[in-house]
Amino acid sequence: MAKHQFQTEANQILHLMIHSLYSNKEIFIRELVSNSSDALDKLNMLVLTDEKYKDVAFNPRIDIIADKDAKTLTIKDSGIGMNEEDLMNNLGTIAKSGTKAFLENLSGDQKEDSNLIGQFGVGFYACFMVADKVEVTTKKAGEDKAFVWTSAGDGSFEIEDGEREGHGTTIVMHLKEEEDEFLEVHRIESIIKKYSNHIPFPIFMDKEKFIPAVMDDEGKEEIEPSRTEIVNEQINRANALWTMAKKDITDEEYKDFYSQYCSLK
Ligand code: ADP
Ligand code: MG
Repeated sequence: MAKHQFQTEANQILHLMIHSLYSNKEIFIRELVSNSSDALDKLNMLVLTDEKYKDVAFNPRIDIIADKDAKTLTIKDSGIGMNEEDLMNNLGTIAKSGTKAFLENLSGDQKEDSNLIGQFGVGFYACFMVADKVEVTTKKAGEDKAFVWTSAGDGSFEIEDGEREGHGTTIVMHLKEEEDEFLEVHRIESIIKKYSNHIPFPIFMDKEKFIPAVMDDEGKEEIEPSRTEIVNEQINRANALWTMAKKDITDEEYKDFYSQYCSLK
């Protein structure tokens, strides 16, 4: 197992996420789902254009799994994945301009700064607003080895060998004591609908479904009682707007798509 230090700027963001920002926490889901979507886009592009990837299966999906017993929230994708070098470069430093701009715009006023994270994409590190430990298990498409990146957001991270079936990335967040709300299916579903409905890949989640009682022919006696069943359902709309007929797109969706798309790119 190898221990590494975060780059200074990454550490600065982490510190803010953990100690200073207390509102708008829900956007961590938007950030992770947008990363999964980017990872699926990247793989799609390679499969279509690069001979080397022609045998790689492209079965795009994002899964969200809430485990109330373990108090973990997991976001998993079948995208491009990362190797050890990618993990070092991508989850230890800050390269992207959005996050840098966020840092430069900080005022020191907690309320104002919390609003800023809604406007800027603060990226992967947002998950440390709600988690006190994060494990990223990932395998790059076309490669054999999987790796596990782990951090408690406390200045250092570790990378070790791991196991993963197929390529892609699985992010397990061990939620802080007071962040139980992010284990509720309804809460997650409404966050996805608010920020990530336009993501052009399906997002799945287990949901409880009510199955009504089966009655006899006369409708008097119950043959089978009502029950609940767990079904794995798609929770976003996932239609790429540019593939839809104009008449099927509401004004709301059109505006939402544009504001999201432009702020994330
Ligand atoms: P940005 O998405 O703007 O580049 P982030 O902080 O959100 O910044 O993510 C940092 C980088 O980590 C991404 O650019 C990407 O290379 C990598 N990454 C994050 N999540 C994933 C994922 N699910 N699959 C593959 N790579 C990822
Ligand atoms: Mg991102």
